[in-house]
Amino acid sequence: MSLKTLFKKEPAPAGYEPATYPAPAVDNPETNTAEADEKKEEHADSSTVCPKCKQTFEKSVLRESFNVCPACGYHFVISAERRVRYLVDQGSFKPLKCKVAFANPLENPEYESKITSLQEKTGLEEAVYTGVGKIEGHEAVIGVMSSKFLMGSMGIAVGEKVTNAFEYAEKKKLPVILFTASGGARMQEGILSLMQMAKTSAAVERFSKNGGLYISVLTHPTTGGVTASFATLGDITLAEPEALIGFAGPRVIEQTIGQKLPEGFQRSEFLMEHGFVDQIVPRDKMRETLGHILRLHSKRGK
Ligand SMILES: [Zn+2]
Repeated sequence: MSLKTLFKKEPAPAGYEPATYPAPAVDNPETNTAEADEKKEEHADSSTVCPKCKQTFEKSVLRESFNVCPACGYHFVISAERRVRYLVDQGSFKPLKCKVAFANPLENPEYESKITSLQEKTGLEEAVYTGVGKIEGHEAVIGVMSSKFLMGSMGIAVGEKVTNAFEYAEKKKLPVILFTASGGARMQEGILSLMQMAKTSAAVERFSKNGGLYISVLTHPTTGGVTASFATLGDITLAEPEALIGFAGPRVIEQTIGQKLPEGFQRSEFLMEHGFVDQIVPRDKMRETLGHILRLHSKRGK
């Protein structure tokens, strides 16, 4: 069946009541704060105001502190490329070749130009950047999602790139480390974006059954279909401090259940207390922590 046939609009049968779903996590004001913060950071000339403690810092000071506020520890959103740079042994990272053809199943007239302009702006092919690199001498397949690319939403290309990363790692007997940051499934690709949840979950399962080690690192914000699939399927789940992690946003949940949510709900610390996260790792300790885990799990403990 062609995509066009699949998405052909047909009149609803008599008596059909459309299902109602909570608003997608992309509408979540919390989620959008991250993007706004990042925009503020980009547009400031040489200094940046921390959105949490409101202190002003030179950009060079922030860069030296892994883009973490030296006063209050607020973790600024960083680009995928910078994330990789903070993490791997110098010069060891090689991107994985996995070109996915552009698909526009709902024939959204602005979708292709939006993707093209984001590719130019971010230098990324899609909302996830995958490659192979070494962390403290240990080789691993590394994937980093970028909230700067359509809020890190997962469509066909992200699903394929994540799956490809697991398949490559399985072939080469390497561990997988994924840094997630996502507003959820990509609305522009309709149901095909939801199918990526099953596809990526199956890829994790296959990899895991064959003895692969998968470390998931949840960063701000990880929501929607990514949380409901590969982000929460890690053998070890780490998170950056105070990251928003959830499925639907807090506003949507409050409206649905008609109750006020507890303080700190859906933040890394709350999730760790409730057993969903194994360890909260500040950005300046991430390389060391991952290096340590990889060393413990390597065959000869080297
Ligand atoms: Zn601060």
